[in-house]
Amino acid sequence: MNNQKAIATPLKTKEILAKYGFSFKKSLGQNFLIDVNTLERIIAYAGIDKHTGTIEIGPGMGALTEQLAIHSSQVVAFEIDQRLVPILKETLGSYDNIKIINQDILEADISQVIKENFEPGQRIKVAANLPYYITTPILMKLLMDKLPVESFTVMIQKEVADRMAAEPNTKSYGSLTIAVQYYTEAHIAMTVPKTVFMPQPNVDSAVLHLTVRDQPPVEVQNEEFFFDLVQASFGQRRKTLRNNLNRHFADQLQKPEIEKLLGKAEIDGTRRGESLMMEEFARLANTFYQAVGTAE
Ligand code: SAM
Repeated sequence: MNNQKAIATPLKTKEILAKYGFSFKKSLGQNFLIDVNTLERIIAYAGIDKHTGTIEIGPGMGALTEQLAIHSSQVVAFEIDQRLVPILKETLGSYDNIKIINQDILEADISQVIKENFEPGQRIKVAANLPYYITTPILMKLLMDKLPVESFTVMIQKEVADRMAAEPNTKSYGSLTIAVQYYTEAHIAMTVPKTVFMPQPNVDSAVLHLTVRDQPPVEVQNEEFFFDLVQASFGQRRKTLRNNLNRHFADQLQKPEIEKLLGKAEIDGTRRGESLMMEEFARLANTFYQAVGTAE
């Protein structure tokens, strides 16, 4: 990478800030990358090549966008902040394979954008330094939309990355872990010091790599019911599974019926949600769904 030219240096970033009189909006999670080395590693982890189409959320001043344009076939980037549009026109002006869409990613019809901008069947990957105030809604939207995307390589808060990539029986393991790992294989590629951002965020950061699964790892009869049950099982973390399920199904099932269903699913009600593997949650949800789901 040519450090002299790259956007992601403290000097170049300050230059652009001054030229446009740009002030960071904390409310939009604007912490820009100013370290070329970190960008290089994101690109390497993302496994992008010249056949890959890429989608970015929040290009900012174009630091990562530029690298995606160099290493992939084309980039589509969603940026909510109108003030950045003229800046991106200048910083990325010499690339003809970048499309900036000035829109809130949460409002975007990404499926349609993919159809319009990429070849049918083309490999598509997402790479981003996400705005931290909406990390989870963005990732859950992208995953639940079941887009034809192979992987996500995203800079997020370390604490959220820990939860998404967690193992059972740990403090970080919870309903977010199950939701993310139902759709993807998750692992933390690297942790990142605050010093690579301008301005520096208040929290630690990590790059999370999510490989989208062809099929979920478990078979569930009703996804909504499954996710609701998982969430309820972690509802009060210190309580037993039995307690949390009694509360969740209070309107539908008597306590003895819940005991019977726990027995049928071969799950001990005195366990805590954090000890259950995804397969066990699936078995539990399918057993309860057969008893109450269809009656709703
Ligand atoms: N990619 C740049 C970089 O690494 O230097 C900027 C990353 S900064 C953490 C997050 C970016 O997301 C900002 O440019 C912000 O304006 C943008 N953003 C915030 N909310 C957004 C949303 N809902 N939709 C699209 N972009 C958003």
